[in-house]
Amino acid sequence: MASSIPVRPLIDPFQRSISYLRVSVTDRCNLRCVYCMPEQGVPFVPHQEILTLEEIARIIRVAAGMGLRRVRLTGGEPLVRKGIVNLVRWIGQTPGIEDISLTTNAMLLPSCAHELATAGLRRVNVSLDTLRPERFRQITRRGDLPAVMAGIAAARAAGLSPVKLNVVVMRQVNDDEIVEIARTTQGEDWQVRFIELMPFMEEQETCIRDTSLVPGFVPSQEVKRQIEGALGPLEPAETNTGGGPARYYRLPGARGLIGFISPLSEAQFCATCNRMRLTADGKIRPCLLTDQEVDMKQTLRQGGSDDDLRQRILAALDSKPDAHHLGDGNRPRQRRMAQIGG
Ligand code: SAM
Ligand code: SF4
Repeated sequence: MASSIPVRPLIDPFQRSISYLRVSVTDRCNLRCVYCMPEQGVPFVPHQEILTLEEIARIIRVAAGMGLRRVRLTGGEPLVRKGIVNLVRWIGQTPGIEDISLTTNAMLLPSCAHELATAGLRRVNVSLDTLRPERFRQITRRGDLPAVMAGIAAARAAGLSPVKLNVVVMRQVNDDEIVEIARTTQGEDWQVRFIELMPFMEEQETCIRDTSLVPGFVPSQEVKRQIEGALGPLEPAETNTGGGPARYYRLPGARGLIGFISPLSEAQFCATCNRMRLTADGKIRPCLLTDQEVDMKQTLRQGGSDDDLRQRILAALDSKPDAHHLGDGNRPRQRRMAQIGG
């Protein structure tokens, strides 16, 4: 049906073009990473409050008609959501969508990497904060490193490329492994991305209370200095995948890349933001680190038209803040990372 509202490109009030949606398909997870979820889990949103896969696909179809080009499925752990392969297929068949990717802890990837690739998934990002099995179990509270490595191997075998590894750097937790992890890019063609720990305070407080881990913030510049001190100068590198916030480098002669994602220390981080998020319970969240949200579920469930959905998407776009303003004391307080889709 033709739109009765003026077709407007997805440009926000600060002239950023928003072509990327990160979709949290569930708030549930099979792990309990110390910086993300408390040991006992979180009170999960009741099933009926979670968007159905059809509802998610519809929002994506409508947004694709407005200029959305790339979708990343995340969570919680997206692979615990039943029907995820169907969702990938539907998104892949949506006119306008050029790229579908997935962020996962990879524990369940061995059994579904091939199916996901066949359905249209292009790439995966795998969270991996340590190469030491004992430490991995401590950080994730229940993860199994060999299973994750099998998941990465399955992704590669299925042609999901490049594999990106997300490493949240935490002082006193894994900062002694920075060089070791960076060195793996010499022989592996993966992209290791060192991510600054973000202040989802409640998690970090429960983690300090419940475990002996006290994750501290480490700025990207310090991570880079450590790597260069041990392995030599990093050469800036270009990538054609993602268009995301990572700044990439390569060790001389290395097969893989090293990236830095610096939401806290990089002044220009927000100026190039190209994304919005859709939470599992149907809210568009224009900024990961700001609690402002626009509800889509009510519009969907009250029989809203595609035009109504477009209006809601534009409302979200128009409320996207210029920056996260963490430096001015802003903190995300309403939701945990696993409930937003990091
Ligand atoms: N379960 C999937 C996974 O772990 O990849 C997807 C969801 S998880 C919330 C997405 C990403 O957010 C992961 O790479 C995780 O490391 C990151 N993350 C979670 N809490 C974070 C925090 N406080 N600071 C920085 N990154 C965080
Ligand atoms: Fe689960 Fe991912 Fe959060 Fe870890 S980071 S608890 S794997 S959602």
